[in-house]
Amino acid sequence: MEKRLVSIVVPVYREERSLPLLLSRLSAVCAQLNQFYFEFVWVNDGSPDNSWDVMKQLATTEPRLRIIDLSRNFGKEVALTAGLDAARGDGVIFMDADLQHPPEFIPELIRSWEQGFEVVATVRGRFESESFLRKFCSRVFYKIMRWISDLEMVSKTTDFRLIDKKVAVALRGITERQRIFRGLIDWMGFRKTYLAFEAGERLHGEASYSYRKLAGLAVNSIIGNSTVPLLWIVYLGLFISFFSSMLLCFMLTDKFLLSNIRGFTSLAFAVVGNVLLTGATLTVLGVMSLYLRKVYEETQGRPLYVVREEKFEQGCQKS
Ligand code: UDP
Ligand code: MG
Repeated sequence: MEKRLVSIVVPVYREERSLPLLLSRLSAVCAQLNQFYFEFVWVNDGSPDNSWDVMKQLATTEPRLRIIDLSRNFGKEVALTAGLDAARGDGVIFMDADLQHPPEFIPELIRSWEQGFEVVATVRGRFESESFLRKFCSRVFYKIMRWISDLEMVSKTTDFRLIDKKVAVALRGITERQRIFRGLIDWMGFRKTYLAFEAGERLHGEASYSYRKLAGLAVNSIIGNSTVPLLWIVYLGLFISFFSSMLLCFMLTDKFLLSNIRGFTSLAFAVVGNVLLTGATLTVLGVMSLYLRKVYEETQGRPLYVVREEKFEQGCQKS
């Protein structure tokens, strides 16, 4: 059988100190898998530090290293997309640069791929470095997503994945801007398996996802994968209409049939009810605006990312 090419895509943001070790560990692993060709596609996502210089330096010593410099920070999901677009492999592996995704696990991914799985996803076996609040938020998020979308959501999955060329081709065809990379892969289906691995501690620096960014991602994935919140608006409207017409009937009966005078109560009710309704109206508008924003962003048709520079070794095996 023809020797196949495996692309290893790595998004890089402020990782100048991890990169040399990442490359040496990757090379060591690939040396054991000589039934495959390898290419490393590293995407610098507008790092403010010297990551790009380090990448250029490393590329002079490693001909399999292909590097791309994005014009600014676009975020990990888009950096992964840029890497995917450049990858030419029969299989594409995505992994983080901070060595939390151990390169030594790559042979396992490839083994499952060889068994015929088209998506080999991973789940974190250990999760200690995450705070209680982060774990809690992630649990709640997965619960909501499973409830309102028809995506098969497995918690603790990571972006450390291998996808077959067929999946890569399909994934490149998805033009959605607000993207959660693994969400898109999950959406596509294909023959899929999950492997557990021990996530390491971050080697240098700090994880760059703040709570604010994570909350943004959560909202985007809900809006991007489900229209159920729109249905809730309809239910809310129906409920309020039903409730207020019942109240009106009650008040009319009270006044005309039973001749009760409850002026103050009904007035207070009307005022408080109005404030509540304003809150509900604003919330509803907010939810609708989120969907409108998505439509707006998707129709602008800007490119997902902009490349400043790329360096590809001409003599790379198997073009
Ligand atoms: N990353 C990126 N762009 C960003 C933030 C992160 O390309 O804006 C990369 C980062 O270099 C790393 C991976 O995405 O390779 C995961 O980032 P991080 O370790 O900060 O996140 P976590 O481990 O919490 O998922
Ligand atoms: Mg990390």
